Parts: sequence; C-alpha cells; structure tokens
Amino acid sequence: MKITDIKAIYPKYKQPLAGWRPHLWQIVVRVESDSGVVGYGYGGGGEAALPIINGHWRDLLIGQELNAIGDIAAVWDVLYQASLPYGRKGVAIMALSGVDLALWDLLGRAEGMPVSTLLGGRDREQIRAYATGTDSQWYAELGFTAHKLPVRWQDERDYDATAQLVAQARAALGPDAQLMLDCYMSWDADVTRRMAAHLASYNLYWFEDVVTPDQLAAQAALRADIGPVLLAGGEHEFTHYGFREIAQANALDIWQPDITWCGGITAGLRIVDLAQQVGAQVIPHRGGEVWGLHLIAATECVDLAEVLPGTRAAQPDPLWLNEPPVVDGVIIVPDTPGFGVVLNEDYV
Ligand SMILES: [Mg+2]
Repeated sequence: MKITDIKAIYPKYKQPLAGWRPHLWQIVVRVESDSGVVGYGYGGGGEAALPIINGHWRDLLIGQELNAIGDIAAVWDVLYQASLPYGRKGVAIMALSGVDLALWDLLGRAEGMPVSTLLGGRDREQIRAYATGTDSQWYAELGFTAHKLPVRWQDERDYDATAQLVAQARAALGPDAQLMLDCYMSWDADVTRRMAAHLASYNLYWFEDVVTPDQLAAQAALRADIGPVLLAGGEHEFTHYGFREIAQANALDIWQPDITWCGGITAGLRIVDLAQQVGAQVIPHRGGEVWGLHLIAATECVDLAEVLPGTRAAQPDPLWLNEPPVVDGVIIVPDTPGFGVVLNEDYV
C-alpha cells in the first residue's frame, strides 16, 4: 500500500497539567493509505511538532510504499536525515515518534496483526505493571506489586521526608513489592550518595533521573556508590544515537526510552539491541501504554511496565480508548490489530 495523507493534531485536552504542555504535550498523528486503512500514532512536542509533520515531512511521506516493517525503518531514516539540521533530539524526534507509531499501527491494521506480532511475536501475554504517583495506599488496593514515588529536592529535610514516604509505601505494598524513586533531575551526586545510605534499609530497586541527562560521567561514577540500588534514566534521551552515548559513558543500569518521544518503535528496537550489546536493562518510560507495551512484549525489555493511574481522587481522562487495564498488578497485551487503541473523538 501507499501513504496517501498524514496529519498531526494537538488534542483539545480537558485536564491540563500546567502551562503550555498539558498531558506531556502529546500529539496525535493520523496516516491514511490507498488501502483505505488508517493508522494512528502518539508523539510529543506539542504545537511545535505540528509544522514539522504537516509542513516539512508530509510531502516526503505521500506516495511512500509501506508493505513490510523494513519500509517503516526506511521512512524513519529518510525523515531523520531530512530533519537533521534542526533535529536529532527534542521536538523533531518527538514528532518522528508520532509518525513512526502511526506507520506501525497502519501496517498492523492492514495485516490484521497486533504490533507485537509484527515485531516477531510476543514472548509473554502479560506484563507486570508499576504505578508511578503519590497514592501508595490506593495502588496497593488496586493490586500493584511495584510502585515508583516522585520526589523533588528542596532542602536537607528531604532526607527524612523521603524516608518517611518510602516507609509509607513499603508498609502499603508490603516487603516483596518493588519500590523506586524518580528524582526528576533534582538531586546532585552528593545528595544521591547520601540518600542511598539514608534509605539503605528500604530495599529500593532504582533511583531515576537523579541529575540531568547531560551529566553522563557523574552518573557513571555514582553507579558503584549507590549499589545495590540501580541507576535509571533516559526518558529525556533520543534515538539509538543518543543512547549510544549513554552506553559509551557506562552511565546507567536501566535505560528508560519513552517510545512516544525517543523515535517510536523503530528507535526503540535499535535501543533495545544496543542495550543487549552492553548489558543494560530496558524499562520504557510509560511502558504500560500500548505504544511501549507491544515493544516490551516482543523484545528483551524487563517485565515491567509503567502506568500513571493518578490518585483515588483524580484519575486521568483517557485520550485513547481500549487501553488495556491493570488487573491484579499485570497488563494483558492487546491482540487486536495495530496497537489496539481508538482515539477518543471528544479530544479532537
Ligand atoms: Mg521519570
């Protein structure tokens, strides 16, 4: 089949997070084909991503043949090259993610196969979920067995405040649950070392984004000092070229590419391959959403998928319908064609 049209939109979100970037400023990409089949993708970059797709890339995409997964990789390389002078990372690659995912969805729907089957087949039907958020007690009631707490450094009192948060989460989810901390680049190397010592009795799995993604050498140096806690990061890194720098610096134990930002499934596959070569683990950012879930199910990613359930008092409004729910702490991978979700038309 041939691509006949492509269009990116910025949804009319009902629950803004803050400022100009509600819902992580995610965009929707719709691709049409001469077979009549339509594919949908999910990317990043907000309003700024739209002219890249609708202006620059649309002309490059119309008329492209799309019959096999190799055709998607070829298109990816064309768009990467075309945007290279202004792209390589950030908004352009967040836009490319949306296009790539729309093409995977299109091919899956055209073939009548889930994306995980296109990827060579699943090696598991269900994936353990972990809840990121603040409502530990509710996540425990929902059946989660893994949970990540967001923390942001303010001052010295945070050593005890963080210990108290972790103690509450441990009490709620029990001694066998996996617990993690996401620091969102708010710690430094000294704080990270001191936290590792201060929280040693809580058996934490990983510390995430302790410093900025540009501080690769600092993260490499920390790894030996904070064990057995692992160092995680990568949601702000892009493409296999970016992750190659993480690999060369030996900066992280756990790589967390966001499949809707890092360059889509195509980049995700290349990143997983690279991780295999250097012995890193891959646990995609927001991997419980279908865009990452199919990659986890079909590749060597760790059996762990992130979801953001919100809180008991404030649950998110779904942009995508038919997202598989978390039941008893696991997510069943959809076996419907493509990614298996439908755009909620209330948002467009
Ligand atoms: Mg994070």
